[in-house]
Amino acid sequence: MRTSERLAQIKPSATLAVNAKAQELRAQGREIISLAVGQPDFGTPQHVCDAAKAAMDDGFTRYTPVPGIPELRDAVANYYTKFYGAKTCGDNTIISNGGKQVLYNLLMALVNPGEEILIPAPYWVSYPAMVQFTEGVSVFVPTTAEEDYLVTLEGLEAVRTDKTRVLILNSPSNPTGCCYTQAQLEAIAQWAREHDIFIISDEVYDRLVYAPAEPASLAKVWEAHPETIAIVGALSKSFCMTGWRVGYALAHEELVKAMSKIQGQSTSNINSITQKAALAALNGSWDIVDEMKKSFVRRRDLAYEIITGWGAECPKPDGAFYLFPVLDKFYTEDAPDSAAMCTKILEEVGVALVPGSAFGDDKCIRFSYAVDDETLKDALSKVGSVLLGK
Ligand code: PLP
Repeated sequence: MRTSERLAQIKPSATLAVNAKAQELRAQGREIISLAVGQPDFGTPQHVCDAAKAAMDDGFTRYTPVPGIPELRDAVANYYTKFYGAKTCGDNTIISNGGKQVLYNLLMALVNPGEEILIPAPYWVSYPAMVQFTEGVSVFVPTTAEEDYLVTLEGLEAVRTDKTRVLILNSPSNPTGCCYTQAQLEAIAQWAREHDIFIISDEVYDRLVYAPAEPASLAKVWEAHPETIAIVGALSKSFCMTGWRVGYALAHEELVKAMSKIQGQSTSNINSITQKAALAALNGSWDIVDEMKKSFVRRRDLAYEIITGWGAECPKPDGAFYLFPVLDKFYTEDAPDSAAMCTKILEEVGVALVPGSAFGDDKCIRFSYAVDDETLKDALSKVGSVLLGK
C-alpha cells in the first residue's frame, strides 16, 4: 500500500500504543493495572447523559452549523466570563471534536511551512505530530524537574528566532501536572506579544487545579489582545466526557472563521447529540468537578509519598492527574531507557505506564493516578519492587 511521505514522518500516539499493549496482555489472560490512562475514572454525570437521550428522542440528529449550535457557543463564552471574567460572545468560540481537533485546526490555520513552533518540554504527545502536519518546525524549550517543568523567559528567549510563529503553553500540564500561576502566564504573554509570537494556551485541565493553587488562564489577557492568543478547552477531563469528543476554542472572530473553514472541509460539526449533552454540562451542576478534585488530591498525595519514598525526584503537581518523576537512576542494563523500563514493568508485574520519551524526556516515566486508591497503592508497590529490585 502506497501512503504519503507526510504520513511516514508521523509517529503513532505513544499513550494509545501503551493502552493497546495492555489490552493485548489482558486478552491473553494477564491481570494488568493501567496507570497509563489519560481520563478520569468517573462516569459522565447523569444529567449530561439524560440531555443526550432527550436530544435523540427529540430528533436532534441532523447537521448543525459547523462551529456548533449558537446556544452552545454562547455557553462556552459564558464559561470564560464566569470563571475568568473575560467578556466575550459566541462568535469568538468554535466547538470541535475534543481539544485535539481544536489544536489541530488552530495550527493548520496559523502556521506556514518552515515557521517555528515553541513547545516547552516535556510536552503533550500530540503537539509535535500536529506541527508536522502543518510542515512547521517544532522547537523544544527544555525545562527541568527543579524548576517544576515551567519555562522561564530566559529559556524562551534562548530559542526565539525570526521564524518563531507560535508558542504552545499547557497548564495544568500533561505529563507533569505542573501549573503556571496567573502572574507567570501573563509575563509570558507579554513577552510573546513583544515578539509577535502567537500563544496557543492549552487549558483542557483548567478545572482540575488543587488548592492552594488556583486555576489560571490567559482568557482575560485574550480579551485585551484577542489577535495574539487562542485558548483551548474541552469537557473531556472536567466532565468525564472523553468519548463524547467535545472541545472548544476562545479566539479572535477571524481565527474562528478560519478554523470553521478547515473543520467545514474535514469533519463539519461535531455530533449533534453531543452538543446538547455539552450544553447540559456547561449550564448545569458542576458537582462532579468538586467530587473528582477531592479524590485526585488524596491520590496525588498518596502516589507522591510512595514515589518520592523511592528516592525519586518529582515536583508535587497542582493539577491534572499525573506525576512525572525522574527515574533514570533506576534504569538497568536490560532496561536502559524509559521505554525499555516500561516494557519491563509491564511484563514483570503487569503495570502499564507511559515512557517519558513519548513526552520528550527519557529520564522520566508518567504515572496517571486516575484509578481508585487501592489499585493505585497496589500498582505502585509493584512498580517499586521492579525499580528498587526487591
Ligand atoms: N491537550 C492535552 C494536554 C491533553 O492531555 C489532551 C488529552 O489527553 C488533549 C489536549 C486532548 O483532549 P481531548 O480528549 O478533548 O481531545
